[in-house]
Parts: sequence; structure tokens; C-alpha cells
Amino acid sequence: MIIAENVLWRSAARSRNADSMQRFSIYRTCARNAERALRLFDDTLMPLCCVFCGARSSPENQRTCRGCLADLPWIKNACPRCAAPLETTLPVGVDCARCQKRPPPFVVTVAPLRYEFPVDAGLKALKFGRRLHYAPAFAALLATRSGRLPSTIDALLPVPLHWRRQMRRGFNQARELCKPLARDFGLPIVDVAKRRRFTHYQSGLSAAERRTNLRHAFDVAIEPRYRHIVIVDDVVTTGETTRQLANALIASGVPQVSVLAVARAVRFSRRRPD
Ligand SMILES: [Zn+2]
Ligand SMILES: [Zn+2]
Repeated sequence: MIIAENVLWRSAARSRNADSMQRFSIYRTCARNAERALRLFDDTLMPLCCVFCGARSSPENQRTCRGCLADLPWIKNACPRCAAPLETTLPVGVDCARCQKRPPPFVVTVAPLRYEFPVDAGLKALKFGRRLHYAPAFAALLATRSGRLPSTIDALLPVPLHWRRQMRRGFNQARELCKPLARDFGLPIVDVAKRRRFTHYQSGLSAAERRTNLRHAFDVAIEPRYRHIVIVDDVVTTGETTRQLANALIASGVPQVSVLAVARAVRFSRRRPD
């Protein structure tokens, strides 16, 4: 369905013909409605099954079984500022060497899982396979580690996609993660950030290249009442996206920013798309 949609989109965009664009629009509406029906069916059944293995889910987490909960690649020791995995626990109030060298603009980062199988497969299925039932599953896993976030947080901000990418994907995975979290935490979702320009996929870029690619990438327009915003994303790689977005929020008058993500990439891989 996705491949067909992409082919139709490319041919419609190439021809710039009103009929082609209309055909694409009709096809997409039908496809999205069919998908919504399937998703409703999935969402009705999926709470009974673990999203990772299909076994009966645990009473503690309605989307994951006890075996998978134990086997997931949890990060035991991490830097509190950037969530980078560490060999040992740091003393309270001490950040990793990288954060000490170049302090991030956020207060804390909570990213409890390594970006490894089956977490990477689940996040790819969510983003590129439109398996949206993974979003509440990952959100439930995040909620179990939410105690590490400061109690002062007052809003959730999903990392925005550029409108072109959002239009083609049909949803923003970070916003899908935010929806159940907002219900759990009783906090609003604030869609106050926009991608100023289309940035290419970050995979395969070095930290310095990512920095250049993302410089001034976000526009933020936010009411002054929010004091501590949590940026929500699916995966943190070098932390450059969240760093640039946090800088934009702080420049708009938000005093404190933290980050909540499902996973932290340990090694940068050419195969990991942002
Ligand atoms: Zn399982
Ligand atoms: Zn750090």
C-alpha cells in the first residue's frame, strides 16, 4: 500500500496534472480509511497480545509480555543529561564527559532502551510500516520510567516532522507516542514547533554534519505560561535534533526543557533513519 502510494505520489508530482493529483488524493483517502478500520481492529485485539512476540501480555503492561519486559535492552547506567549508556553509575549531579565538554540545553534526558533489536524493529515498523499499535506499547514502557523526569514538567512537545514528510507519512510517530503519555501524565500536548526547512535523513552523518544540517531548523511560537517542556521523540542518536529544538524553545522563553525518548542509539549506524 505504501509502495503504491509513493509511486502514485511521484507520478502525480512529476506530471503536476490536476487529474493525477485528484486521483492520488482519492486513492490516499480510501487507503487511509481502510487503514483506520484495520487499526481499530488491531487496537481492539492488540491489548491482549505482546507487540514483540504475540504472547499474552502481562498485567503490568497491557502491550508487552513478562518475558519481553525482562529481555528488552534496558539501559542500566546512563548520563542523566543525555541518556548515553555508561559502564558505571555517575555520582548524583555529575554528567558524562561529553556533556561536561558541551553542556546540552536540557535538564534531563530519559531514554530507557538501547536502539537494538527488538526496539529498533518496533520503531521502524511504527514509522515506516504504519504499525501504530506500537506507539501505545512504547508509551507504556516509557511511562514506567517517567519517575526520572522532573515533577515540574507542564507540557509535552512531539518533535515535529517537516510538513512534506508528515504529509507523505500521514502521521508523526512522536505525536503518536505523546497521545497516551498525555493521558497518563494529565499534561497537554503543545504542537508549537515547526521545521523551518526540509532536512535530509540524518543517517550516515557525523555529529558535526548533523549539527550543520539542523542549524536553525525549528520555528517555535509558544505561550509564555509553560515553564518546563518535555520534548518527546522515538529515538535519540547524537542528541542534535533535541538540542536544536531545546535551544529554539529556550530562545522563545521556555525556562526549562527535558527530553523523553523510547531509545538511545549507542553506535551510529548508516542503516538507522531518523
Ligand atoms: Zn513478548
Ligand atoms: Zn551526557
